[in-house]
This record gives sequence, C-alpha cells and structure tokens, in this order.
Amino acid sequence: MKEIKNVVILGGGTAGWLAAYILSDFFYSNKLNTNVKIIESSKIPTIGVGEGTTSIFYEFLKKYNLDESDFLKETKATLKFGIVHKDWKELGYTYYGPIDDPQLIAPKNKPENFEYLKAYAVAAGRPVSEIHLHTMLMQNKKVPYTFKNNNLELISPFYYAYHFDNSQVASYLNKRSKNIEIIDDIYTSSTQNADGTITSLCFESGLELDVDLVIDCSGFKKLIIGDVFKTKWISYQDNLPVNRAMPFFLDIKEENYINYTLAWAQKYGWMWQIPTQERIGAGYVYCDQFISPDQAQEEIEKVLGHKIEPRRDIKFNSGRLEKYWVKNCLAIGLSSGFLEPLEATSIHSTLIQIILFATEYLKKEMDFNNEELISNFNNRIGRQFDDFKTFLNMHYVSKRRDSKFWQYVADECISEETKKFISLWQDELPSLDHFDDYLSGLPHVQSQLYYPVVDGLGLLSKESAREQMSKYDLRSTSRKYYNDFSDKFNEIIKDSLTHSQFINLSVNS
Ligand SMILES: Cc1cc2nc3c(=O)[nH]c(=O)nc-3n(C[C@H](O)[C@H](O)[C@H](O)COP(=O)(O)OP(=O)(O)OC[C@H]3O[C@@H](n4cnc5c(N)ncnc54)[C@H](O)[C@@H]3O)c2cc1C
Repeated sequence: MKEIKNVVILGGGTAGWLAAYILSDFFYSNKLNTNVKIIESSKIPTIGVGEGTTSIFYEFLKKYNLDESDFLKETKATLKFGIVHKDWKELGYTYYGPIDDPQLIAPKNKPENFEYLKAYAVAAGRPVSEIHLHTMLMQNKKVPYTFKNNNLELISPFYYAYHFDNSQVASYLNKRSKNIEIIDDIYTSSTQNADGTITSLCFESGLELDVDLVIDCSGFKKLIIGDVFKTKWISYQDNLPVNRAMPFFLDIKEENYINYTLAWAQKYGWMWQIPTQERIGAGYVYCDQFISPDQAQEEIEKVLGHKIEPRRDIKFNSGRLEKYWVKNCLAIGLSSGFLEPLEATSIHSTLIQIILFATEYLKKEMDFNNEELISNFNNRIGRQFDDFKTFLNMHYVSKRRDSKFWQYVADECISEETKKFISLWQDELPSLDHFDDYLSGLPHVQSQLYYPVVDGLGLLSKESAREQMSKYDLRSTSRKYYNDFSDKFNEIIKDSLTHSQFINLSVNS
C-alpha cells in the first residue's frame, strides 16, 4: 500500500483542470493533507476546441457547489438543450436531438422500461423529439426560467448543458479551486522504480517532482500513459470516418442566442456551430482521404456564402487506449482516447472517468499492483468508449450518397453493433433493457439518447410501435399522457425567458 501524498496532474487543459478540481475537492473534504500540483506549460497550447458539453456538466456544477451565474460570466457560456442535426438523414431534412427525457417523469406503466410516450409518437408517425420540453425550448430559443421577485427560478425538472469558451474554463476552475499548486514548466522525462511505478517527473527547468499518483492530461501527446507505459491503442477509424478538423469563428449576428449545437452534415463530414456569449465557435470535421484542407475551406465558404479564417488544422486518430489506469498513472481526457466532436462525448467521458475514480477507487492509501481493481476500472471505461463509438456510428446511417465520402460511409463504415441495434429496433422499440448500467448510475448513452437519433434517421418502424402499443394495451394511456405533457410543456414555454434575457440577467446579477 502506498500513501497518496503527492499528486501531479500533467497538463492544464479542460481535462487537467477538471481532474485537479475534483481530486483536490476529494482530498480537502476527506481532510487529507495531499499535495495536488498541476503542470500547465505556457509554451504548449491546449487543443483550443471543445466547447459543447452534456448535462453532466450541469451536475458537476451542482455537485461541487459552483455558482452557475459566476460560471456563465467567467466562461462566456450559454445554455444548451440539445443538438440540431441538419442534412444527416438526407439533404434538406433536419431532426432535433433534445437531451431531456420526459419518460423519466411520466407515471410508470407495465412493462416498466417500455417508453410509451416515445412509442406513441412513433406509432402516430410523429417525431419523438416533439414530446420533449427541450425541443420546444430549442425551437423557441427559450430557457425554462422565469424572473420573479428579482430571482431566476428554474421551472423545468430536467438537467441541461452548456456551451462555453474553452480557453476560459481552465482559468475559471483555477480561480475557484483550493489547494492546487500551479507549475509552469515543460515535462521531459520520468523515473520509475523496479515494478514500473512512476516515482518522479522531470522538467525542462531542472525541477524534479516526487509523485505517488500521476494524472496524465497531456492531450494527444499521451506523455506518460503512451510514451512511458506504451499502452496499446485501439483504433475506431473503420467506423468513425472523420479524422481532421478546421475550427473557425463566426459572428453572433442574431439578437437572441441559439440554445443548441448545430451539427450540419456536409459532403465530406460535418460542421459544428456552438454559440458562446461573444461568438459562434464553428468547425468543419471531415475525412482527409477525400479532400484537402484547402478544398474543405472552399466547401465551407461556399455553404456559408462568405470567407472564413481557419484557426488551426487538427488531425486526429479516432480511438481509445486499451488501459487508462496503469500502475500509478491515470490518463484522463484526450490522452485516454477521442472519438470525434459529435455529441460532445469527450468532456462527458472525462468527467465520468475522474468522478468514477474519485468516488469508487481513490483512497488515502492505494495498492498500485492490485491488477483486479485496476482492470475493473479499465474495463468500465473501455466499455464506455465502445458504447459511444456505436452511438456516433449510428449517426452515419444515412440515405446520402452525394459524394464519395457518403458512399464510403454506407459501404464500409457501419459497424456490426450498429446493425444489430437497427435490426433489434425494427421489431422492438429502444428500451433501457437493451443497455447495462456499469457506471454506477452515472449518466451514459442509453435509449434516451438513441431515440431521437434513430427516429430522426427514419430507423424505427411505425407498424412495430403500433403492435407493441396494442400488445401492452397502452394506446389510450399513452395518448392521455402525451397530450398532458404537451400541454404542460407548452405552459412552461409560455412562461419562459428567452435565452438572451436569461444570459443578460445571469451575467449582470
Ligand atoms: C476538433 C475537436 C472538437 C472538439 N469538440 C468537442 C466538443 O464540442 N465537446 C467535447 O466534449 N469535446 C470536444 N473535443 C474534445 C475536447 O477538446 C477535449 O476533451 C478537451 O479540450 C480536453 O482536452 P485535454 O485537456 O485532454 O487536452 P489539451 O487541451 O490538449 O491539454 C493538454 C495539456 O497538456 C500540456 N502539455 C503538453 N505537453 C506538455 C509537456 N511536455 N509539458 C508540460 N505540459 C504539457 C499542454 O500545455 C496542455 O495544457 C473536441 C476535440 C477536437 C479535436
């Protein structure tokens, strides 16, 4: 057993700061005298993208008592209620991907995991997203808050997410954290003892830091988990066809901010648009097997009808490590794996990894040779990545064949797991029964996230939804609750502030 006295987080990007914040909170609240140091080199930039989150970020702020309006002010954040998917199923077709789940608050019926509100929509030939409060909010650019007695009051039972300026998140967490020492230096090498455990990290300035636990947040460089431990890489490139990104900014032209991520499919990939308070962070993620960066820029300028100024050129390999925890090193963030920007899975996985580690594995004293415990963590995280891969792969099940890219996607990229779900859900609608909870109840991809996507892509069967509704005798009950929820949500919309009103009230309070 080793007492954890010195923790060093290598890398001060979003992952590094989230890890530093959560770990230092753990040591502080357990009254442990552990030193937490974060290395952020002013000479090595962070990735500079990653501005869309999932609702786990909302939970993170609440769990760690971080004040939302302070967060909005400091990170120029806006609220996110889902994703609008444009031109994915076919050109000219848009579907909504709301991140709330009305079924969670609907009265239980038998069978318990049959999501009858959504089944009702499918059987009636309506988009399932229609019965989500978040879809209505996205369509109306509203947020579920009222302003009463000089107070912002939340009038929705659902969590939401944020879009933020990623360059501000690290400095925000830095300002709000306690007991974290910041070191500006460049890592050069490490020392290990006979069993491979890292004993110290060495830096360009000559500094050498003793470590009991290292958190590798060095981004795509994977300085410890990759360079020192040579951990195996599992590629997802066969199923996730994009591998290069061209980020750029767009002006916010409208008075009222949009409250969703726009994911707009293009000829050779897709474009994201993410609003913060001051601009829209945008980018074209594409496959460079088919077009060069110059051609990508040309394509996007044609679509937008004006010139853009690319901020950088990011090449990435989609995939994950085989192990995230080796000896006394834990890889968090881009150093552990990356799929692609769709559905904001990266910051989400980062939070899950570190929260899971802090709540279930981290102790005052640890045995870094306990292979069973370490494998248990690694298997859960590996599975999380694989499940997200299948979810993202599903987005590419498209009718589009208007370029070599879409032809290639259709012919070669759709995985067996994706095909299995499609075939299963032709007979039986998506249900929680089709997913295991192996993350101790932490939010994960399950039927809630799949429903709007597979429905939006036209992959569900109206006939089989009708059969299931009759089999369970739920038609009239579902109709009643569908209409009740629709009325209730419309009332919320009427009372809600616009997104701009909310931001102004929050940041000026
Ligand atoms: C195109 C693109 C779009 C994305 N969009 C989203 C999105 O919308 N939502 C989402 O959830 N995620 C998104 N991501 C992922 C997201 O950007 C990352 O999860 C997030 O920014 C965390 O990155 P990181 O901290 O792991 O790495 P980085 O930001 O790369 O940080 C690495 C850190 O390591 C330090 N470092 C490196 N080498 C050394 C050294 N030798 N010595 C000392 N320090 C060193 C650097 O200074 C830096 O501080 C996107 C990624 C890409 C590529």
